[in-house]
Amino acid sequence: MSVVENIPLEPRAKRQRTEPNEPSYSSRRRCGHWFVRYGVCTTCSSSVDKAQGQAFDYLFNGLQLSHEAVAVTKHLITLVSCSNEKKLHLVLDLDHTLLHTTRLPCLTEAEKYLVEEAGSNTRDDLYKWQGQGEEDPIVFLTKLRPFVRDFLEEANKMFTIYVYTKGNRDYARFIMSLIDPKRVYFGERVITRDESPYMKTLDLVLAHERGVVIVDDTRDVWPDHKSNLVEISKYNYFRMNKSQQSKPYSEEKTDESENNGGLANVLKLLKEVHFRFFSVIEEKELESKDVRLLLQASLSSVETL
Ligand SMILES: [Mg+2]
Ligand SMILES: [Zn+2]
Repeated sequence: MSVVENIPLEPRAKRQRTEPNEPSYSSRRRCGHWFVRYGVCTTCSSSVDKAQGQAFDYLFNGLQLSHEAVAVTKHLITLVSCSNEKKLHLVLDLDHTLLHTTRLPCLTEAEKYLVEEAGSNTRDDLYKWQGQGEEDPIVFLTKLRPFVRDFLEEANKMFTIYVYTKGNRDYARFIMSLIDPKRVYFGERVITRDESPYMKTLDLVLAHERGVVIVDDTRDVWPDHKSNLVEISKYNYFRMNKSQQSKPYSEEKTDESENNGGLANVLKLLKEVHFRFFSVIEEKELESKDVRLLLQASLSSVETL
């Protein structure tokens, strides 16, 4: 008798679908509850505890993946994206990385001219908008960082991009409408305070850590993934506080350089990392490449980003 005869030919999910509500003891014991929706395993229909996996509500409401499923998915996504598209993954922060947002009442006298400019059609980098859901809605001004649109367009050729912000979902949604109105860069890949209220972690990013670069102005929010991090210079457009010594860009009526500012410099680094990652003779070599090692080498040769 051959060994093959003992292997069931139907996939497990199909076999179990015959009795979805009464999984046999053996199938329940075997099921790893890889994909769970609203607390119920999609394979064996058992109730599954939250602690048995990782929630991915930002991708799909109620979705939870087992730790094993996360590991396998991350591994596969990076493998496929490297060999099919020659793309790595990029995780971008919003505040002080891609833009600066302030509350209208915080504007100084010297900054008030911006309110009118934001309301006019002359500027496509400055927006006035109102927070939602409060009795006294607060009005905000958002200033996009110079070069941000070019940065996204260029980075998108080399990376699958995520946004990871400490802002809430409504805020992220509004910012997306400014920088990605056609939803070509981020798709559903937007992680907010709603899903990740404390520290930031690559556990929520579905790609293997060896293929993920983070760009953030705040180092401390990434306790476990500093070797993936490119710390970008903080973009402060508005006055941060009264005691600030130097005049901010807003009061000087000037701005960070397009060609030599934070985003332009980070883009150069990303191009270098991408180029070196994919500089292989045989495709098989890609499986052992790691951006963390490349970043270590590149960052030590760069001064300020
Ligand atoms: Mg930030
Ligand atoms: Zn199950």
